[in-house]
Amino acid sequence: MSGQYDEICLATKPMTKQRITVAKGDGIGPEIMDATLRILNAAGAEIEIDEIEVGERVYLSGNTSGIAKESWNIIRRNKVFLKSPITTPQGGGYKSLNVSTRKFLGLYANIRPCISLHPYISTKHPQMDIVIIRENEEDLYAGIEHQQTDEVVQCLKLISRPGSEKIVRYAFEYARVYGRKKVTCFTKDNIMKQSDGLFHQVFDEIGAEYPEIEKEHWIIDIGAAKVADTPEVFDVIVMPNLYGDVVSDIAAQITGSVGLGGSANIGETCAMFEAIHGSAPMIAGQGIANPSGLLQGAVMMLNHIGQTEVAEKIQNAWLKTIEDGVHTVDIYKEGTSKKKVNTVEFADAVIANLGQKPVQLVGVEFRKDAKFHLPPYQRKAQKVKALKGVDLFIHWHGTDANILAEMLKPLNNGKMNLSMITNRGIKVWPEGFEETFCTDHWRCRYKPVDGHIPSKSDIIELLQLAEQHGLDSIKTENLYSFDGVDAYSLGQGQ
Ligand code: NAD
Repeated sequence: MSGQYDEICLATKPMTKQRITVAKGDGIGPEIMDATLRILNAAGAEIEIDEIEVGERVYLSGNTSGIAKESWNIIRRNKVFLKSPITTPQGGGYKSLNVSTRKFLGLYANIRPCISLHPYISTKHPQMDIVIIRENEEDLYAGIEHQQTDEVVQCLKLISRPGSEKIVRYAFEYARVYGRKKVTCFTKDNIMKQSDGLFHQVFDEIGAEYPEIEKEHWIIDIGAAKVADTPEVFDVIVMPNLYGDVVSDIAAQITGSVGLGGSANIGETCAMFEAIHGSAPMIAGQGIANPSGLLQGAVMMLNHIGQTEVAEKIQNAWLKTIEDGVHTVDIYKEGTSKKKVNTVEFADAVIANLGQKPVQLVGVEFRKDAKFHLPPYQRKAQKVKALKGVDLFIHWHGTDANILAEMLKPLNNGKMNLSMITNRGIKVWPEGFEETFCTDHWRCRYKPVDGHIPSKSDIIELLQLAEQHGLDSIKTENLYSFDGVDAYSLGQGQ
């Protein structure tokens, strides 16, 4: 086996000292970072460290972003960031530093290798060896939310072509460079035909450029179930942000311990490496935390900066330590484990094993020539875009769509006709069902009368008419076709 922990290798020359930014975070963060850095130093990692403070103390000092401006400058200058977990205080408008770091620095790819270390770590899945590649910047994580009526709140799901192309290409490159056989895509495009449909379409388009790699697509619900049940059938899995968030935790958990997983967040210029787990405040300060997750992040970082030999040395020593049964309390199991150790003792054991390889577990041999081919996104020729109508969203307290349709009749400028009303996506007029439950949030679709070519002025007139007739319009969404193909969803039941 080779390369399953490998990471993108940027142009940085191996074995020149690399300045990296380190944040010890809070909770168990400082303990696991100290242990990790000690192992890196002992293994001969050629790094120089700039330490910054992020997390709870910064938040509670009144900085709602959890990080000072000067710290951003250091992260951007060094381009490589090793971060311990941090605690985001509940409520109070505190912004998640993890989400902002990924988005500010354009870290579009989140990579989580999930491998089982059977029989040394208890797992129901001894054959598991998958890499989850999660889109990291868009989807519902754009965080664009609005309350629109008393009863309905909206969160915009944004899937872009550049975002999808970048992550899908990254997944195929990952598979190509590291000799993986298959890339699977998870979406829910049977329901979200436009947004997830675009992701799936891009997967098919880019996948066609990699004939040697097997490709498949699963609907996310059954795909996630299959990961939980039979992970050995998967290899590399790529998916949009929210699904990736959930499925990567499931995948890490079923390897036997979330505490063992590391993750890389890769962008075009910067990269951040971390443990999958959080700051575990319940065990903070006790010196018993497992530093393996952060160490795995650090190994990915070393590969990323071209120090593959050091990465390999650490990874093999770590595997040997796990195999020796030297375990922290979270993975300790009578019978399998040999020695229960604390954080410092675990790091000592890994250091003592540097230069050794595991005997039963498969040792790693990282590729020294890992190069990703990630050309910049090329915008395609603009399509012919035509306005086909408008969805006018109304806040109305009634429950009978037939009454609302009557109220909407005066909104008639001779150019646009009411063609459909939906409530939470399901058609309720014409010919709705009495049984359908309705909220106070109504989508009223207007289409042009025969022969009329609609314009933005028609929509403005429609909004003015709604205002004149005392209807509470919340927003409009224009209906478009691109190159003659209608690009909006139908009402469910339409
Ligand atoms: P958590 O991952 O911190 O803890 C979950 C469970 O796993 C706890 O029982 C904990 O004791 C255990 N655990 C986690 N890491 C361990 C380790 N290295 N060694 C031994 N046991 C370990 O999740 P949580 O309790 O939901 O979150 C705690 C805090 O962490 C929250 O404030 C959350 O916002 C934050 N968090 C931060 C990050 C990050 O910085 N990347 C990620 C997730 C959660």
